[in-house]
Amino acid sequence: MGLRQILTFPDERLKVECEPVEELTDEIQELIDDMAETMYAAPGIGLAAPQVGEQCRVIVFDVGSREEPRNPMALINPEIVECEGEIVSEEGCLSVLDYNSEVKRSSRVCVRGLDREGRSLEIEADDLLAIVLQHEIDHLDGILFIDRISKLKRSLYVKRMKKKEKGDT
Ligand code: ZN
Repeated sequence: MGLRQILTFPDERLKVECEPVEELTDEIQELIDDMAETMYAAPGIGLAAPQVGEQCRVIVFDVGSREEPRNPMALINPEIVECEGEIVSEEGCLSVLDYNSEVKRSSRVCVRGLDREGRSLEIEADDLLAIVLQHEIDHLDGILFIDRISKLKRSLYVKRMKKKEKGDT
């Protein structure tokens, strides 16, 4: 298939809690390839399946610099099994257009899941990778980063998007 369309807020499909993957079918392999391609094309450093309209627990990410060769990682049914510390950083999202905001996250996480061959994988992450993993796993639970900012900031963004929508039509 290749590139997939990225859903954007306020699409209801971004609010769904996704189902675990039961079997690593050809469709899942294709989804992972398509998600990686879509992420690089955007460009972004992480993407979750619900962002391309697939309600299953799959994420891809690559926090390497643009100069390095691409090394997309996929995690299936990822789970945060440990977290500690606190970090505040500016986040954006391919599904939240024209907006960035500071979000508070754990500064270190341990994430467990499966790789695309079905082997169990444990990733200890800090800094940017820890933030990306928490952000993408949130997507699998129907949570966007704007759900983690103040109500006031969020409502200002929602208002702005509504205005824009009206302007467009
Ligand atoms: Zn996102």
